[in-house]
This record gives sequence, structure tokens and C-alpha cells, in this order.
Amino acid sequence: MTRITVAKGDGIGPEIMDATLEIIMAAGAQLEIDEIEVGEKVYLSDNTSGIASSSWETIRNNKVFLKAPITTPQGGGYKSLNVTTRKFLGLYSNVRPCVSLHPFVETKHPKMDIVIIRENEEDLYAGIEHQQTDEVVQCLKLISRPGCEKIVRYAFEYAKTYGRKKVTCFTKDNIMKQTDGLFHQVFDEIAAEYPDIENEHWIIDIGAAKMADTPEVFDVIVTLNLYGDVLSDVAAQIAGSVGLAGSANIGEECAMFEAIHGSAPRRAGQNVANPSGLLEGAVMMLTHIGQTEVAEKVQNAWLKTIEDGIHTYDIYKEGTSKQKVGTKEFAQAVIANLGKKPTLLKEVSYKKDTGLNLPKYVKKPAKAKELVGVDLFVHWNGTDPNALAGEMKKLTTDNYQLSMITNRGIKVWPDGFNETYCTDHWRCRYKPVNGAPFLKSSILSLLSKAEESSIDVIKTENLYEFDGKAGYSLGQGQ
Ligand code: NAD
Repeated sequence: MTRITVAKGDGIGPEIMDATLEIIMAAGAQLEIDEIEVGEKVYLSDNTSGIASSSWETIRNNKVFLKAPITTPQGGGYKSLNVTTRKFLGLYSNVRPCVSLHPFVETKHPKMDIVIIRENEEDLYAGIEHQQTDEVVQCLKLISRPGCEKIVRYAFEYAKTYGRKKVTCFTKDNIMKQTDGLFHQVFDEIAAEYPDIENEHWIIDIGAAKMADTPEVFDVIVTLNLYGDVLSDVAAQIAGSVGLAGSANIGEECAMFEAIHGSAPRRAGQNVANPSGLLEGAVMMLTHIGQTEVAEKVQNAWLKTIEDGIHTYDIYKEGTSKQKVGTKEFAQAVIANLGKKPTLLKEVSYKKDTGLNLPKYVKKPAKAKELVGVDLFVHWNGTDPNALAGEMKKLTTDNYQLSMITNRGIKVWPDGFNETYCTDHWRCRYKPVNGAPFLKSSILSLLSKAEESSIDVIKTENLYEFDGKAGYSLGQGQ
């Protein structure tokens, strides 16, 4: 018996949750349920987080959370409960299977069967944004080694447990050599521990194009947060089944399972919504808590029902479908099929022991870290980089010199091009010369001289080497 938390959500949420619970209970799920209230009602009772603190306690105690979609009220101030839940509970892994149900649900990709595993906590989604000059704003992309290791290991363990043959990594490390470079490097390291699983890396742009065109060449895909966000919607859509897809959000302690669609308020209360997305989330929940036989039974009965042509309005199609049904009738049809298997669609068979081996991150020994320069970012309204270089050179000493100026990453001094468009945000790089050490005090001295010269320094970035390897990027064109 597993105790779980359930939230019925808003809009079509209560109907699809009732249908889902009825099906899994009929299949023999051993669950004790604590129901909590989240979403619109809570938001509108002046709680901008959409969830009461006592509900957090229930979620944290039970550790497994099955959540129906909720409505985020329009207007400012309301925080997305999904984002909050993922971040608060450390749900680092977002798992989205996208499988074609051809010929019963229309798709251009009849052989598609992929699982997208998206890093869920880091990347540009940290929301660390600043306006720095009149013309330039910044969003910080933070990628950590523990973050990369956890998600990449999750992907390989998932592949191993669910009998998948290949894991593909998508990054843009030809451009982002530090951040995406770290993700790719960790991927290569961990892939080596799984010799029985094929591995490959694609640059995200051509990889995404390939996935949209020939998804059947991919199996498990692991990627960073932003790419995974975009890619998983594309994958669900081209599988032909955005309304049929479920997703799991997995952390070290807790896990949350849901449908990928929203609360479809216009369809609420009419017994028309398709409960399949949430049901797919519930099936992932059942495998997660070790009730694999029940999960298998539900999944095969659901596939059989789709195959029987018993369809809700959203996938109903004259010719392929046999019977248009409502939410409740669909649930009853799945229940009637419990114990049966699909004939054309591939029946599922989950391994009995689905415990993924996910060891805690082990901190690596600290590397030798040496300060080897600094980038001063300057708000400057001029247009001629040579004029700025003249000003910035005045801040130097015999021990460190101005080595480069870039504008939005493009080198404009020395030897810049007149054609390069310059905005008011400049990066001025200082490096030591004549074998002199570069110290934190050198940065303070640069900053105080800049202040005396009325140069508007908006931020600094220290340049480090780790074990003798540059921990910073060169300017484009350098
Ligand atoms: P939506 O996913 O609710 O609806 C998009 C379209 O798909 C609509 O035409 C809807 O009728 C249809 N649809 C969705 N699920 C369906 C189902 N199960 N059966 C049949 N048809 C279905 O997206 P939206 O309209 O952009 O958003 C509505 C609300 O949901 C918003 O308040 C949004 O913030 C919220 N939302 C919540 C979640 C979540 O809780 N995980 C996710 C996305 C959107």
C-alpha cells in the first residue's frame, strides 16, 4: 500500500482525475489517497502561490504526487504552481514518453516511440535576469556538474530499466563551450559506464530538425531545460497526441505525475475531456512506486481501448474511430478491457524491478583555481571602440593590460570591423603581462580607477583557470 497525494485541479481536472483513479483502482492499485486543494480557488483566496502550506506538508510526507491540471488566473502576481513545485521539491528530471498510436490516432510518424528526458531545475530557467544598460538586458545561464550528472545518469538508468537501446544527447556546445560543453562532457563520461546502451550527441538545431522529420531514429533523448521544454512539446505534437501524453517529474525524494495539457476550462463539466494524458501520468506513477503489474495492466487495457476505436471527441475521426464517448464512458471501456492486450499496437511489459540505481552526487576534489584576468562590463554610449580602448587603457599598470573589447561577444578591439553593430554594453578584458600575478586587488584597483574616471562599470566577471584549463570563452573573432 502506498500513500499518495492527489490534487484534482481546475477545469476538466476533477473529471479526468476521477476517471483516472477509477481505472487504476479497478486494476488493483494499492493506494491510500490524501487529497489536497491547489489551483484557482487557492490563488483567488489571496494565496499567490496557489497552494496552502499544510498541503506542502502532505506532499512532502507522501513523496508521490498525482496532479491534475490547474488554471493559473490571468493577471500579475500569480506564480506558476508547476514551476514552484519542481523547484521546491528538487524535481530535476522531467520525463515525457511520446509514442505514436498509428493507425488509430493520426500522425505523420507511425513508428515514433521516443522518451524525452529534460533537465528541470537549471539553465536559463533560474530566472536570474538583470537590465544592465539602457539597451541591454541579461539572463544568466547556470549549469552545474551535479545537475548534469543527475539528469544524464537518470537517462541511462531509465534506458537500462525500460529496455531502451540508445540515449541521444542534444546540446549547442559548438557555441556554448562552457555550459553546454559541460553537459556534453558529463554525457560522454557517464555513457562510458553503460557499454550496452548506444550513445550519440547531436547539435540541438539539426537534431531537432531530424527529430521533427524522422523521429523513429531516436529512442531516449536527454537535454538541457530550455531545449527540452521546446523539444518535448514538438515531440508530443508530432506523435499526434498532445492530449494523450503524460509526464513525470522526478526528484531524489519526491515525484510528481501529471498530464502535459492544461485545464481546458471551456470543456469543463461536460463529460467530454480525454482522461488519457493524466492516466499516462498515473501509469508512470505506478511503475515509479513499484506497482508495475498494475501499471502494465492499465497501459495494455488503455492501448486496447484506443485500438477498439473508442475515442473521446479530441481524437475521434470518422473512418478510424468506432464510437465517440465521454470521459466516464471512456474510463468504463478501459476498465472493461483490463486483463486484455492490444493486437496491433505494441503491448507493454515492464520489468518487475524498476528501481533505478541513482546514487547521490559525490563531490569531486577541488581543482587548482587561478585568477588570470578580469572582464569589466561597461555601459558606454559612444560608438568608436578605439575611443573606448583609449579610456580603458588608462586604468592599466605595468602588470596588466587591456587585451580585448567585445560588444555582445563580438571582438571590436583590437582590429574590429566598422560593420559590427555596437550597442551600449561593452566587455573590456584585462590580462596580466610580463609574468606578473593577477590578484583580486588588481580588480579593486581597476574598479576604483574606473570610478575616478567616471566610467560606468556595470559588472565584472573574474577569469579563472582550473587545473591550467581556461574557464572562460574567447571573444568571437579572437
Ligand atoms: P489546454 O491544454 O488546457 O487546452 C488546449 C486545447 O486542448 C483546448 O482546445 C482544449 O480544449 C484541448 N484539451 C486539452 N486537454 C484536453 C483533454 N484532456 N481532452 C480534450 N481536449 C483537451 O491549454 P490552454 O487553453 O492554453 O490553458 C488552459 C489553462 O490551463 C490555463 O490557465 C493554463 O495556465 C493552464 N495550464 C496548466 C497546466 C498544468 O497544470 N500542468 C499546463 C498547461 C496549461
